[in-house]
Amino acid sequence: MKIISNPVELKEYLKYKKESIGFVPTMGALHEGHISLIKKAKEENELVIVSIFLNPTQFLKGEDLDKYPKKDDADKHICKLSGVDVLFFPHSYDIYGDDEVSLSAPNVRGYVLEGTSRPSHFNGVLTVVMKLLNIVNPTRAYFGKKDAQQLNLISLMIKQLFMSTLIVPVDTVRENDGLALSSRNVYLSSSERKDALKISASLHSAGIMVSKNILDSKEIIKKMREVLSPLEIFYVEILNRDFEQISHVEIGNTVILVEAKAGTTRLLDNIWL
Ligand code: AMP
Repeated sequence: MKIISNPVELKEYLKYKKESIGFVPTMGALHEGHISLIKKAKEENELVIVSIFLNPTQFLKGEDLDKYPKKDDADKHICKLSGVDVLFFPHSYDIYGDDEVSLSAPNVRGYVLEGTSRPSHFNGVLTVVMKLLNIVNPTRAYFGKKDAQQLNLISLMIKQLFMSTLIVPVDTVRENDGLALSSRNVYLSSSERKDALKISASLHSAGIMVSKNILDSKEIIKKMREVLSPLEIFYVEILNRDFEQISHVEIGNTVILVEAKAGTTRLLDNIWL
């Protein structure tokens, strides 16, 4: 496995490659969720490139940038074992200069859900993903459905900026008890982890209601809020795949999303129906 930190060097290395390239951008502290993205990229492409970059511009002041888990050696080992061809491991100064050009998230879709309480978050996400895609120029890029709003905005960026990378959504990997894997789960104490299970349980209860043909969004959200109680809830939303609110679940075109706090940790989860 080749490890490259300089974007120009990576571009030079890839310049004459004719193979299809699968790209998996991450912020490190890799877990089985990330590994499933890498596996899918391996299945569908001749070369696989993973980036590990803790992107400062997507963190707001006072968020967890400084304490975000760092596991550089373990991450390198996981990438090697997973058959990654190139690990792109830049420093912040490799990616950002001083007086920066940057992207803005769309005024509506970028400022709902997570964008409500983290207003500049998606500007940072879109800017870094744009930079990474321009450096790697992959055939396909792999993103988790767990970060559904991020996936939606990146797909929108690809379409609206006429970019040619194919975005591949990947299913959420969970612990056996339902908790969605996240690098931030290490922040949870054992009692907070128990609380956090209410998030996947609320989505499970929504799934059961839908299987009984109860499709009314208000009714489902009411039940989910009961299951989530007493967690601090940021949102429970039932949206179509264009991220518009819908009064009834439409099978094949619905995402149910939750963000809630366990202890001091904000956790996201969702199901796609
Ligand atoms: P992160 O390192 O948190 O920025 O995540 C890198 C990529 O992994 C993003 O596309 C995430 O959506 C995806 N990801 C994170 N957690 C999971 C999970 N539990 N299952 C599948 N993909 C995930």
